[in-house]
Order: sequence, then structure tokens, then C-alpha cells
Amino acid sequence: MAKAEGRGSYRFFTPETNERLHEQFQLEQDLRLALERDEILLHFQPRVDLRDGRLLSLEALARWQHPERGLIPPGRFIPLAESTGLILQLGPIVFELACRRLLDWRARGVPPVPIAVNLSANELFQDGLARRLADTAESFGIAPELLEFEITESATMRSIERAVAVVTELRDLGFAIALDDFGTGYASLSYLNRLPVNSLKIDRSFLAEIDERPELPRQAIAILKAIIGLGENLGLERIAEGVETEAQRRFLLAHHCTVAQGYYYCRPLPADQLEPLLRAGQVEAGGGL
Ligand code: C2E
Ligand code: MG
Ligand code: MG
Ligand code: MG
Repeated sequence: MAKAEGRGSYRFFTPETNERLHEQFQLEQDLRLALERDEILLHFQPRVDLRDGRLLSLEALARWQHPERGLIPPGRFIPLAESTGLILQLGPIVFELACRRLLDWRARGVPPVPIAVNLSANELFQDGLARRLADTAESFGIAPELLEFEITESATMRSIERAVAVVTELRDLGFAIALDDFGTGYASLSYLNRLPVNSLKIDRSFLAEIDERPELPRQAIAILKAIIGLGENLGLERIAEGVETEAQRRFLLAHHCTVAQGYYYCRPLPADQLEPLLRAGQVEAGGGL
């Protein structure tokens, strides 16, 4: 099409974009196969009580074990899965893997730990989502109290009305809900009153500016304090994402945010490597670096 204007006048598809499109297309084909070939797996990252290092729960994070390209991070394939609709197949696979994991740990005598699973916007607004999740959990014999869903603030903004309805339904079924990447969605704050979530996950971009310098950047601090205060005043749990340093840990504790997830404690890990931490129920500060 773009070629119609003749030699040297490629206007839309330069060789580079052509290559990129081809690459995307190839990846999409591969992803279709991956879903059939069980190439999707989960890593898990602990959420930790900053006061005493107690391991509170886990977030499940998808990985793709590609036969030639190795382990592919979700940033490379989740957006692709969303734009192609494949997420509606991938989502249930991830959720089943999480249920299976809980079942396996239970069989191995590992102390029970709740797992949080990410839901994409397309899944959130899919008809019958809550029922399907409840049915799956039940078929595995997993109590909903051991499962949580993370939905992004930006996803809920597609339709606040429908988001309120789905979140209410999920809560009524016994699942917990966290609002992920909080603070990045530019949502009107008034919607928070109506969305019955359990916790806010403070996006790691807010924490990134708190470092070891004696003079902390004032704007960044003001915003972080406001977000934590908002969660506190609404009676929501606050979970800080991306804690990488002791200075960040101290800042959070001083400002009433006691739960965090981050490399400072632990990177996302495969299930077998996590098992000792689960048995200990404890994660050491600085241990993930
Ligand atoms: P998210 O849900 O906000 O997950 C947190 C991301 O931050 C993870 O990246 C995690 O590895 C990373 N992280 C945690 N602590 C630190 C830290 O201290 N420093 C830094 N720099 N990063 C940290 P990951 O695993 O690459 O996942 C990226 C995103 O992909 C997730 O962001 C989530 O939006 C999406 N995703 C992952 N798994 C799934 C899934 O099963 N379903 C859906 N729909 N989305 C998923
Ligand atoms: Mg998440
Ligand atoms: Mg997040
Ligand atoms: Mg995030």
C-alpha cells in the first residue's frame, strides 16, 4: 500500500518498521503456540511487613519461557496479548497456575500464603469474570481468602460504573482487590469512595525519588505523603511498590505505610526458590539485592 507511490517514497513502512511489524507478528504467532504449549509460568514476589520483615502475601508475575528467546518478561508480551485479544486465554491460564501453586504448596506443607493475580482491563470488563474466577478457585478447592486481584487505576477508568460493579461482585465472593499502579492513572479521586478495594499499590515511580540524600526532593515527598494519607484516611491498606533502599523503607515507615514489595527484600522468584522464605515466614531487608 505504502509502496504505491514508487521507489524511494516509502512513507509509512520504512524497512525498520517493516522489520518491527514482522517481529511483532512472529511474536504473536509464537504467543498463540505458547498458550497451547504451557510456556507461560509464574514468578512470585513477596509483600513484606516493613516493621518486622514478615512475609504477608505474594504477587504472581507472568513469564514466558520462549523455546529460542529464553525467558521473556511480561512487558514484552502482556501488551501484545491485550492488543490481540489473546489475554482472554492467557488470563485464565495465569489464574489456574496460581491456584495450582497454592494447591501444591498446601500438599507440601508450606504455610498458607495469599497470592495476588494481575487482571488486565480487557479481563476486568469481560462478562462473567467474577463467576468464572470463583468457579475456578472452587474447582481447585482454594478459598477466595487466599486470592487477590490487582487491577490498575487506568483500567477502572475505562468505565467507573462497570469497575464498581465487578469489584463489588468480586468482594462479595470473598476475593480481595488491590488498585495497582496507583497515582499514575490521573483518575478523579472521588471515584475511590465508590470502588470497594482493599488496598492501594503506590506506583514505584513515586518512591524512586526518595534516596539516600540528606535533602530529599520536597515535591516528591509531598505527593508520596498525600497518597499514603489518602489511603490511610479511606481505611485502605497501603502497599509501596519498588522499595529498593533502606532510606525508602525508613521513609515509608515514618509515613504510615507498612507494607512493601521491592528488590530490597526480594526479586520475583520461581516457586521452588521461594519455598524456604515461605516456610520461614520472614524476608530479610537487603536480602533481594
Ligand atoms: P505490576 O503489576 O505493577 O508488577 C510490579 C512490577 O514491578 C513487576 O515487574 C516487578 O518485578 C517490578 N518490581 C518489583 N519490585 C521492584 C523494584 O524494587 N524495582 C524495580 N525496578 N522493579 C520492581 P514485571 O514482573 O516485569 O511485570 C510488569 C508488569 O506486567 C506488571 O506490573 C503487570 O502490569 C504486568 N503483568 C505481569 N504479570 C501479569 C499477568 O499475569 N497478567 C496481567 N494482566 N499483567 C501482568
Ligand atoms: Mg501488579
Ligand atoms: Mg504494580
Ligand atoms: Mg507497576
